[in-house]
Amino acid sequence: MPPSGDLLIRRAGRVVTNAGEPLDGPAAVSVRNGVIAWVGPDARVPWTITDAPELDAGGACVVPGFVDPHTHALWAGSRRAEYVARRQGERYDGGGIASTVAATTAATDEELVAAAADRLTAMAANGTTTVEVKTGYGLAPEAELRLLRLVGVLADRVPLRVEPTLLAHVVPAGADRAAHVAALAAVLPEAKALGARWLDVFCDRGAYTVAEARTLLGAGRAAGLGGRLHAEQLSRTGAAALAAECGCASADHLEHVDPAAAAAMAAAGTVGVLLPTATLTTGGGWDYARVLRDAGVTLALGTDCNPGTSWCESMPYALQLAAPLLGLTVAEALAAATAGGAAALRRPDLGVLRLNRAGDLVVLAADHEADLLAHLGAPAVRTTVVGGVPVAGQRHIH
Ligand SMILES: [Zn+2]
Repeated sequence: MPPSGDLLIRRAGRVVTNAGEPLDGPAAVSVRNGVIAWVGPDARVPWTITDAPELDAGGACVVPGFVDPHTHALWAGSRRAEYVARRQGERYDGGGIASTVAATTAATDEELVAAAADRLTAMAANGTTTVEVKTGYGLAPEAELRLLRLVGVLADRVPLRVEPTLLAHVVPAGADRAAHVAALAAVLPEAKALGARWLDVFCDRGAYTVAEARTLLGAGRAAGLGGRLHAEQLSRTGAAALAAECGCASADHLEHVDPAAAAAMAAAGTVGVLLPTATLTTGGGWDYARVLRDAGVTLALGTDCNPGTSWCESMPYALQLAAPLLGLTVAEALAAATAGGAAALRRPDLGVLRLNRAGDLVVLAADHEADLLAHLGAPAVRTTVVGGVPVAGQRHIH
């Protein structure tokens, strides 16, 4: 549950607001009742907001909280054997999902929620303030609804903003495909009632076909669920064009996207979610961000946190890969990790430090945002703030 409070951050060496040029310090940021009330020079803080608890940034850079628009953070078990096998040269085709489904099915509700809460706590320590969490390790409709209920329990337990997504991951082994798609479509109104905001479909080789994904997205829209799509990760199937056709908020992965599909995404306002940690593991090329950028697609950045292809709770690590490997500038990478994620989740209240937007921000363990990307593997975050309340890192206020 995201907290809400008052906070006055003083002596920031620099503030990246995503609303105009960064502000050089000493600067201050005020949060009242969970939303941004004032941003400006430290010497000009209005007296009306000085009664709030104060956090001394000590010259560090303040940026909007990271918005991670793509995670599979609810799972049980380990994919260690698959990792070892892949390092010995085996290809990944999505088959390892079955082992996570078995472990997740066998785990108790509390084991699943506790493990996921630990992951989200690690994310908060790495500066994430909003996280999308997908189901997807149940497969059968009833099992997916169970996981969706648990995402709701998780959201109540952690001090982050959680966006719940029902994921159609892969068709269960041995299932009649058409019957399974129909059964999944039939439970989408219940998914909506359980708090899902999004329906995501893994549309790729070894997962759902474009026709199946189109059917599911249509049923999701009828049930009031926004659409997202795992698209063009392992092969080029036409999924990115489908995301544009169906008005999806985002298409994600996109290693095999082509310029025509990217242009369609740009025209439809479908955000391209870059997941470089997954690219690192699955061994795709790195040219896709340029294809998307050249087409004018809004870019977002996520961790894809999952046990098989991207075991990562760190947006700073994703940023450190994205800039050099995907060819993004510092400003582009940071915008993708903040405002881009907010756009991918259709949350205009997030990702920007501007009057009346959410008071979600990160005091970096650096005095400039470029150092966050350049200083590889270093501790990146001093304090993470959600709704004006420090939730991770140094929380000394006075
Ligand atoms: Zn994913």
